[in-house]
This record gives sequence, C-alpha cells and structure tokens, in this order.
Amino acid sequence: MDPRMDQFATSIDLVSRLQQIETVLLVATMLLLIGLESVPAMRSRDFGPGRLRHALRNGAVWLIGAIAVAVLLSAVVVPAAGWIETRRAGLFFAFALPGWAVALAGVVLIDAADYLFHRLSHEARWLWRLHALHHTDDALDVTTNIRAHPAHVALAVGWRLVVLAALGFPQWVAVLRDTLALPVALWGHANVRFPERLDRMMRGVFVTPAMHRIHHSPVAAQTDSNYGGFFSFWDRAFGTYTLPRPGEPARYGLDTVAADAGSVSGMLRTPWHVGRADSSH
Ligand SMILES: [Zn+2]
Repeated sequence: MDPRMDQFATSIDLVSRLQQIETVLLVATMLLLIGLESVPAMRSRDFGPGRLRHALRNGAVWLIGAIAVAVLLSAVVVPAAGWIETRRAGLFFAFALPGWAVALAGVVLIDAADYLFHRLSHEARWLWRLHALHHTDDALDVTTNIRAHPAHVALAVGWRLVVLAALGFPQWVAVLRDTLALPVALWGHANVRFPERLDRMMRGVFVTPAMHRIHHSPVAAQTDSNYGGFFSFWDRAFGTYTLPRPGEPARYGLDTVAADAGSVSGMLRTPWHVGRADSSH
C-alpha cells in the first residue's frame, strides 16, 4: 500500500475515535452543567423566567446550524480534508515530524487561527452581523454555547478548512484541539459558580469562565476583548486581554440589539437587526 494512503487510513481512524470521545464529553459535560445549573446553591446568578423557553430557542438555532454543517461536512469538508491530507498540501506536511509534535503544533496554531477568526468576527462588520446572535443572549447559561447563527457556523467550518490547507495539519489534529477546548467553552458560558482561586490559577494558560464571561458583557470595550477559545495567551500577546475582576459582569447581552427578537426566526434575522441598530461595530 502507498505509505501516504496508509497514513491517511490511520488518520481517518483517529478522527473517528476522537469524534466519539468529543461526543461523549459534550453530552456528559452538558448534562453535568445543566444539573449544576438546576441546583440554586451552585448557580452564579438567578435564572429569570422562561429558562426552558430560552434553552429550546438556543437549541432550535443550534439544530438548524448542525444540519447545515452535517451537509457541508459530508459534501465538502471531508472530501477536501482528505484531498489535502493525501497530497500532503500545506506547511507542516513538509517536515517529517513525529505524531506528538504535529499534535502540539497543531493544537497551538489551530487555536491561534480560531482566535483570529473570532477577532475578525467582531472587527469585520459583515462577520459581526452573523456573530452578534451569540452575543445577544442576556441570560448566559450552558445553552448559550450552542447559540450561533448557522451562516457563522458554516463560515467557521470554511475557515478551518483554509487553515488546515495552509498549515498542513491532518484533520485529527483539529478534532483534538476542539475536544480539548470543549469543556473550556461549556464552563465559560454555564450559569455555575467556578472557584475564583482555580480560575486565577488556570488563566495563565487557559481561557477560564471569568475570562470568557467578560466577553459577554454589553460594555463594548469588554465585548471586544478576550477572544480566546482554549489558550489565554493569544489575548495577552495581541493586546485584547481584559483581566477578570472577582465576581461577574453586571449584565450580559448587547445594548444595541434586542435579545432574541421574540422567536427563532427573529434570532435568525439578527444580522438585519444588527444592520439597523448597531453602529458600535
Ligand atoms: Zn464573540
């Protein structure tokens, strides 16, 4: 067998094993956090009325995005990633690095590329229109994590493909980075107390709940900071770090755009609401 095809078969096997771990981790962590959010003593703040309605709306938007991404993955991303891998296109394929070095470099650099995409999602106005839906949630909880406009999710998938092609990482490295970042993202949005000491210890290297909650404050200077998804050092290195203070931001959401425009279809029309109302970006 062609050694490239042999390597590719091993890589595909790793992708499916890591995806299984990612799915189990997602379901287990979501259930744990929903459970903790249901214990009043464990919450960081009170839920307003309509917790279930809020969760169902965020879940409905996620489902539409998930279907779009599933179609995109099978039709475009998996064949394209396979093409990149079998032809060994991109920077890192030029070096014969051992697997652990590919994993390390890939996790760090793919995380940097995600930082850049998130930052562009705030700084480029047309991308902000799509990303704003995630920020209009004024009742931050674990379901905010899955509240994203399907078009923004699709663009993030496209961006990931460009990054893999340019840097030359096999697809399993991207799945590894996402699996590692998953608990960070879920805890970052959950309405669950997180010990201040632990937060301070961790945020030298990793994004923590206190760090990400500031990103959901409606104060523009805070919204437009702390873009990191896994490692916290990109924000420090590129001057977008806001040091968390003990306690939480006073409020969440955006002052310039309504929370959810009353319905799932209203949420999906957020890019147009942003166009009319928000001149701060
Ligand atoms: Zn953001």
